[in-house]
Amino acid sequence: MINYQICTRCIMDTTDPEIVFRNDGVCNHCLEYEKLIENNEKYSEEEYNRIIEKIKKLGKGHPYDCIAAISGGIDSSYMVHKLKSAGLRVLAVHFDGGWNTEEAIHNVKSLVETIGIDLYTYYADWEEFRALQLAYLNAGVIDIDVPTDHTFFASLYEVADKKNVPFIITGHNLKTESLMPKAWVCDKLDARNIMDIYKKFGSGLKLKTLPILNFKKKFSYYNIKKIEVVFILNTLKYNKLEAAENLKDTYGWLPVKVKHGESIWTRFYQCFILPARFNIDKRKAHYSNLILSGLMSRENALIEMQKPIYPYNFEQDKKHILDKFRLTEADLDMYMTQKKRTVNEFKTDTSMKNIYTVLRKLIPFKGLLNASTRH
Ligand SMILES: [Zn+2]
Repeated sequence: MINYQICTRCIMDTTDPEIVFRNDGVCNHCLEYEKLIENNEKYSEEEYNRIIEKIKKLGKGHPYDCIAAISGGIDSSYMVHKLKSAGLRVLAVHFDGGWNTEEAIHNVKSLVETIGIDLYTYYADWEEFRALQLAYLNAGVIDIDVPTDHTFFASLYEVADKKNVPFIITGHNLKTESLMPKAWVCDKLDARNIMDIYKKFGSGLKLKTLPILNFKKKFSYYNIKKIEVVFILNTLKYNKLEAAENLKDTYGWLPVKVKHGESIWTRFYQCFILPARFNIDKRKAHYSNLILSGLMSRENALIEMQKPIYPYNFEQDKKHILDKFRLTEADLDMYMTQKKRTVNEFKTDTSMKNIYTVLRKLIPFKGLLNASTRH
């Protein structure tokens, strides 16, 4: 058993089994964050304007310039607001896996109505989505939210392809979202891994409509259809706190108490399953990220950590989840205490991914942002 230690700069600690500390007590996450931002610090008005103008130019003659992924959380809401202000013709795409909170629904609705943009809601087939989520619970792996993240991302590609829009813009950003211990999550885009977990621990229900981004599809979307994901917030001096105030005033936006708390399932997983079963409190990573990006002091983060980890009505959420999944309390107890498995015990796409990475290096990829016409 290693001794407990907490970083002197951020609040990451030895609950990350791979954390290492320098002699002065600063952890590897702080150093990696510094390097990452240094290498990617390209936010400038010119770069932002160049991307916007390019997307506009390529969008001429098409009904939409871009797709904007919107969850109702702060990053994506602010991003949609910025895109519209910049004059882009946006198709907002929202993924509905059946777990959206009232705040998320309110935020998406109020935003698209006030701004006046089209909304495409992607409804995942509930029985299929349920089957995949339960397979992850059954498997005993750590990152039970992979089905949500994966199908959400895959749905964006499906809509982009269907609507013939080559740009997907997401609110994901390095500045406030890059710090996350590898041991706490797993690869969200490894379709082979997902399908192998489903094969071994799923109900056998065929996943006919659920969007799964397998290697063939990925290759086609990336290289043939050239659909490009743009992380626009990385080009802006994005201040989350100011953005929240702005959204509240302009759209009556409702704050989401925990990061990714737009989904009842995700908040239950993050605020109950992860801490209770795996001794992981993701607030440490989320707050550390805010500390490193200068938006929160370490003292305030430590005060926030004293607050209850489940900032919602736990019993109500639990009942909702059990009812919706058609599970009993005993089923949940079984999940919480069963054997833990790692995703590496299942098949992965790693070798294909390695080959692909080498190919990408050999054949330089010219993205649409550097091209002169859209397909
Ligand atoms: Zn640190």
